[in-house]
Parts: sequence; C-alpha cells; structure tokens
Amino acid sequence: MPECSERHPHLKQSDPEIYELIQRQAELESTTLKMIPSENFASFAVLEASGSILTNKYCEGYPGARYYEGNEAVDPIETLAIERAKSLFVAEHANLQPYSGSPANQAVYRALCKLGDKVMGMPVPGGGHLTHGWKVNFSGSDYVQVPYGPDPETGLLDYARIREIARRERPKMIWVGGTSYPRILHYDKFAEIADEVEAYLVADIAHINGLIVAGVHPNPVPYCDMVSSTIHKMLRGPRAGFVLSRVEDRYQEKYHSDTKLNLAKRIDRAVFPGLQGGPHMHTIAAMAVTFKEASTEEFRQYGRQVARNCKALAEGLLRRGYQLVSGGTDNHLLVMDFRASEFTGKEVAQALSKAGIICNFNMVPGDPRKPLITSGVRMGTPALTSMGMKEPEMDRIAGWIDTVCRNLDNLEPAAAKVRAEVAELCSQFEIPGIRGK
Ligand SMILES: *Cc1c(COP(=O)(O)O)cnc(C)c1O
Repeated sequence: MPECSERHPHLKQSDPEIYELIQRQAELESTTLKMIPSENFASFAVLEASGSILTNKYCEGYPGARYYEGNEAVDPIETLAIERAKSLFVAEHANLQPYSGSPANQAVYRALCKLGDKVMGMPVPGGGHLTHGWKVNFSGSDYVQVPYGPDPETGLLDYARIREIARRERPKMIWVGGTSYPRILHYDKFAEIADEVEAYLVADIAHINGLIVAGVHPNPVPYCDMVSSTIHKMLRGPRAGFVLSRVEDRYQEKYHSDTKLNLAKRIDRAVFPGLQGGPHMHTIAAMAVTFKEASTEEFRQYGRQVARNCKALAEGLLRRGYQLVSGGTDNHLLVMDFRASEFTGKEVAQALSKAGIICNFNMVPGDPRKPLITSGVRMGTPALTSMGMKEPEMDRIAGWIDTVCRNLDNLEPAAAKVRAEVAELCSQFEIPGIRGK
C-alpha cells in the first residue's frame, strides 16, 4: 500500500520496526472486516491534528486560566472544541480534557460522589462498562454497585424493575449506558426514576454518541446531570473522552452543601487538578475536527446508515436461524447468542477472525459460561459503514458468518475461502484515514 509509506516517511527512516508494524496493522484493517462495535476509522484530517506538533505543548488549566505561558494558539483551539461539543449535543458545559472514556467516568464519580456511595449500574456481563461499578475496577472497590440489567430471557431492560431497585437502594447516582445493549435506552424513564429517588442521572454514551448526533437515538443531555463519552468509537475521533454537564447542581443542598462550586466547576476541578495534569492538546485539536465533521449532514446520514446496516445484518442472521440477544437491534451492534450451542462465544469469535471477520466474544444476559469463554459474539457496523458498505454487503457478511459457524468442526478450508472473499470485498471500498478519502 504505497499510500501508507508516503504518510510516514520520517518514521520509515528512523524506526523501521515500528513503521513496519503500523503498516501491518493498516494492511490488516484494509483486508478484514472491522466489526468490533467500538472501533472505527478516523479521517485523515483527524489523524493529522492528532499527530501534530501540539503534542509538544504544556498548558495545565483551562482556556484563559493556565499555569503555563504561551497559550495564544492552544486557548482558541480548546475554546473552539468546547463550543463545537456544546452545540453538537446542546449541552450547557463541556470538559474535553479526559484522556479517555474511563478517566472521564472517574471524573464524574469525583464530581458527584463521595467514597463508598451507592451507585447503580449494569454489571459487565449484562452489558455495562467496567467503570459502572464492576468489582475489579476502581468504581467497584471505591463505591458500592447496586446492579441492574437486562432480563436474561428477553434481553431487555425492565424499567419497572429498575425503579423497584432504585426505590429500595436509594443510590446517589445512576449510570445509563453500556457496551453491548442492542436497544434504545429510554432516558425519560431513567430520569423519572432518578428524580423519584433523588439520584444524579449520568448517561455514558461512549458507544452510541453517533446515533444521538444522527437523531436515530434520543439525546440524553436534557435528562441527565452529566453525560460522559468517548470520541474514538462511533464519532471517529482521536483516542479521548469528554464530559457534558449541567451548570447548576439540583442536589447542591442535599449532597454538596459543603461547597459553593456548581456542577460545571466541579467536573472541571475533578478532571484537573483532581485527576490529571496537562491536557493533550493534539488530541483536543483532533476532537475539534471530529465535532466539526460530526455536525454535517453527511455524518447524520452516516449515523442512519450504521443503524440500517446493523438491522440488515441482524435480519440476515435471524433468517439463517441464529439467536440474537433481545431478538435484534436498534443501534449499531448486535450480540449473537450461543447459549444453546455446544460452541462457545470465544470459539466462534476466533473462528470468524480466521475468516477475516474481526469481532469479539461477549457475555450475554444470564450467561452460564465464564467471562473468558462466554456464550455471545458481539459485532457492529460503524467501521463497515465508514467504508461505504450498505445493506447488500451486510447480507453477504451474514452469509459468511453462517458459513464459518456451520464449519466449526472443519474450519480451515471454509475460513480460507471466506477470508479471500472478505479481502476482495474490502478492496472495493475506500477506507477513511487509510486509503482514498
Ligand atoms: C469504551 C467505553 C468506555 C471507556 O472508554 P476507554 O476509552 O476504553 O477508557 C466507557 N464506557 C463505555 C460505555 C464504553 O463503551
């Protein structure tokens, strides 16, 4: 791929080992189907900002209030990025400095909770994120998780049940969002529950932010005290996190009478100096570029197509006799359910990978198998849609998944055949940041 060698001429000279390995990753990404739902392709423009000289700059603090001099360029960059984020999500306040999604969530805890507080979240097997109170994470050891999750039979959230748990446990904060829930989340219903028990409501939109921007899913901002997110998943940005927040704390009296700081100030202080040092300005510049790209009609069309593609993929699999968690999807991902199969999620995911279909094994609600084995395979359409694939390609892919799953006992020939067809399909499309646009 000559495009790639032209992109990193200095690296090729100075560090051929790393250069070759990056080439190898580019080769992998352009000949296989990237179906891990949290992965995507950042544009050349985003990559350029992210790889820019801004990596040299130290500017601890926020625009107009820094602990270092020489901010004539970086202040307007961060201000512009913040304004774009606020306007895209119609938010009162945005902090773009968290180094990634997990640190963004850590900042939310620091701004809203005290050590040992009860926090409601979905456990990892039910589709929640590590940072929503899972035991091996800081959020599980420093706070007390009150778990809720999808019904093992239907795969759906039961809002009456969630309300019951909240009324019984009276958590200080409720997380809504996750990594493998394939359905729309009803923030209005969560808001009613949070209001009733006087809990903060925080949406974690790391996965579905692009669907919100495209209007496929509701925007949680009006319902939530804070909204946390990554920007490198569906939004196709650099590796980073951000937090949107209300300015006023509606529970200041009840929970934070010890401080005069409002919510916006508290999240800013939680990020810096509470948890981090200098902001990554090369990343924040790339975030500004990402928010600009995401504010276009082209991006909204992309978001709608991601969901249409995922529906087409789900239909293709259902038609071929496969079980899906919750029976389908209305977002960018689906989870195949192999609870009834002798084959495990891990075996299927590894087999698909041999065939050039890259996804991940995943717990399903009520999974009887262990987290490193699982009964589920999670896959999504954001990256394929960024390449320009549409419904007909999704049906072909469902056919290939079926071929692999039917040949698990004698995988090699089938996998080799599918692998070649996958590479041929990929070669027909442009790939943002790798080749073409
Ligand atoms: C990916 C993800 C995160 C964490 O992001 P990292 O950048 O991997 O730390 C947090 N919450 C949810 C729901 C996620 O999907």
